[in-house]
Amino acid sequence: MRYIILLLAIVLLVYIVRTLARSPKRSKKVAEKRRARVGSMVRCEQCGLHVPESEAVYRHGKAFCSREHADDWELEH
Ligand SMILES: [Zn+2]
Repeated sequence: MRYIILLLAIVLLVYIVRTLARSPKRSKKVAEKRRARVGSMVRCEQCGLHVPESEAVYRHGKAFCSREHADDWELEH
């Protein structure tokens, strides 16, 4: 009976170690996927802040971090 418990403990340990060893790779893949979805960064013409291309506001062929900065830039130029 004691050997069965020991065997189960070893199997469980191997399973835990495998799971732990695998998880960093998986999270790295998720991070890569996330980065790919965000895409490249563009620089706000008004404040210089870098924002994801998909979230940027475009006006006069220039990129801005927000509509407020696009408005500010329009007033100044
Ligand atoms: Zn800005």
